[in-house]
Amino acid sequence: MIPFQFFPALRKKRCICWICLEDSTYDSTWLLHTCGCNLQIHKSCYIKWLYQIHVELFLSDPLDSPKGADLPIITSLKCLVDGHHDFMTTFSLAEIWETRPIWGQKSVPFQNDYLFNIMSLYTKRNNHPPYVLLKFGQCPQCKKTNFIKRPTVTTYSPVLSLFYQWQKITRYVVPLGITSSFLLNPEKTSFDLGLWQLRCLFPENVLRNMLNISTTKALDVYAQTERGLLSIPLTSSIIICGFLHYLSNISNVSANAILFKWVYLNIVKTAGNKYYKGIGLPKIILYSNLATFCYNFSLKRFFDLIYKKLIDKGGRNLYHGDFENTNHMVPVDEFFIRRSWYTILAEKIVWPLVGKCTGGLLLKLFLWAQKKFKIEWSPNCSPSEFRMIFNIIGCGTAAISWSSLKLYASYRRCLELEKINKFAEENSREEETEFF
Ligand SMILES: [Zn+2]
Ligand SMILES: [Zn+2]
Repeated sequence: MIPFQFFPALRKKRCICWICLEDSTYDSTWLLHTCGCNLQIHKSCYIKWLYQIHVELFLSDPLDSPKGADLPIITSLKCLVDGHHDFMTTFSLAEIWETRPIWGQKSVPFQNDYLFNIMSLYTKRNNHPPYVLLKFGQCPQCKKTNFIKRPTVTTYSPVLSLFYQWQKITRYVVPLGITSSFLLNPEKTSFDLGLWQLRCLFPENVLRNMLNISTTKALDVYAQTERGLLSIPLTSSIIICGFLHYLSNISNVSANAILFKWVYLNIVKTAGNKYYKGIGLPKIILYSNLATFCYNFSLKRFFDLIYKKLIDKGGRNLYHGDFENTNHMVPVDEFFIRRSWYTILAEKIVWPLVGKCTGGLLLKLFLWAQKKFKIEWSPNCSPSEFRMIFNIIGCGTAAISWSSLKLYASYRRCLELEKINKFAEENSREEETEFF
């Protein structure tokens, strides 16, 4: 629909499809040639035409081939028209690098065919059909192969677009930025990142006690040099560098994660000043553990239940097949929207910052409500500690909101896949005889 608003000249443009020879005014069902020729084609006619080219290319006897022999072709066409097809892909720049024979040793089928390398990584789904769509056809007039824009099918949904853009951004930013700084200087990067996250959530006095240091500004100076980093007490170093890992595993119930959380909590306990009167980290960790426990056994169960319903209903829409569901290879919440390590890492890194902003909003709301309803109550702690409590609550609120949004995005994606399947199937099998 967008062309209507931005290109008023297109509104009255008459289009004639060079396949079916029908004509009408331009709308979203049309594709215009980008090669410079004044030609137009229906999206559906283009798909039909592509299907026919590939049937002739790949099936030895197109008229008398076994039923379902054209399945890989149709699947590839679905992949082509999928406007959000990066939801299926989990490879990033780093992973492409790894498959290059010079840098990595990962053995991939068709090692000498770079295109196939990418395609086998394309979905990381083992039963993905061979990527057969090699040709996009050529312009009948100028014979250019790059003559048309990819015809895409999408549903309009801001939430779905948000997840799509987030995945696309993190795919490049995380592997390039964070991974390279981790490779160049792992100690300093994890130290800086951990300290920044801790500062987002905790006020200076809590941090001072937690890290057993007179001022945290000294840590910035220490972090400048390798000798400085070594002079920081070991327990403080572990608390700072392990914080990202602790956050990543906060709702993880695997044995390894629980063991790590125990060890981390014990280190935090031994590092802090025992005579500290304020709200210390052990107390916060205790309450946040209780909160994640409640979350895991109530809301998460509820979300998983809805996800399972969604998969039962719409799992067949996944054009690569829903074998993962039966094998339980993919967590239910990643069934329709695949997320890779870079997206998850980016989410864990920015989580405290988002939590802080959400906490700030909640605090404003709380103070407004207190004023409005004239509630006489003052917290039993310092203002900075009170703000800290709201930061933690903000983190929880942000996490729950994000997972609710993800559930909704999965639902929209499921509907979108249904639309894509319908479009590709209707335009390939239905009118096979027309071209013979
Ligand atoms: Zn047509
Ligand atoms: Zn042309």
